Amino acid sequence: MKKRYAMAVDTRRCVGCNACVISCKTENGLPDGGFRDWITTETTGTFPGLSMEIRSERCNHCSNSPCVDACPTGASHVQEGGVVMVNPAKCTGCKACITSCAYGARYVHPSGYVDKCTFCLHRVKKGQATACVEVCPTRSLTFGDLNDPDSAVSRLVHSRKVKVLQPETGNDPNVFFLS
Ligand code: SF4
Ligand code: SF4
Repeated sequence: MKKRYAMAVDTRRCVGCNACVISCKTENGLPDGGFRDWITTETTGTFPGLSMEIRSERCNHCSNSPCVDACPTGASHVQEGGVVMVNPAKCTGCKACITSCAYGARYVHPSGYVDKCTFCLHRVKKGQATACVEVCPTRSLTFGDLNDPDSAVSRLVHSRKVKVLQPETGNDPNVFFLS
């Protein structure tokens, strides 16, 4: 079976320390103001019964990716494991993909092309963990092949209560939030 790379984000473990954000910036040499992952906090309920969810978010590497469909030059494309990538050499910076993404996962690099999370495919191909997974001090993040029933990400996604962001888009995200 073909690989389907996915990430599980355990919202019960994440403390919002931003280590994943800094690690990503360093690993990928991101410019000032450019981020491939970020922390979102969401408070729900009515006082005094409030609860807060902390999420480490990034591109969802959607199986039905509107950004790839919207890209007029083929710069946005799908690579092994379903990872959605941008080829800077083909990107004209037209921002069609940014408009089509419901998750705010993309930004314009100062060099003129659009940039986003790559699931650290350059590291994964060498058998290394993604930069964010590697540094998370609470082990909130788990990456792997969802089509491998023995992978840690597969076991988590199939044994815990999970959600994806904005399922109504029909984008079929591959980042799963455990609660
Ligand atoms: Fe949360 Fe881990 Fe990221 Fe810290 S490094 S913000 S605990 S996911
Ligand atoms: Fe494309 Fe946005 Fe989905 Fe990432 S989260 S694959 S940029 S639509």
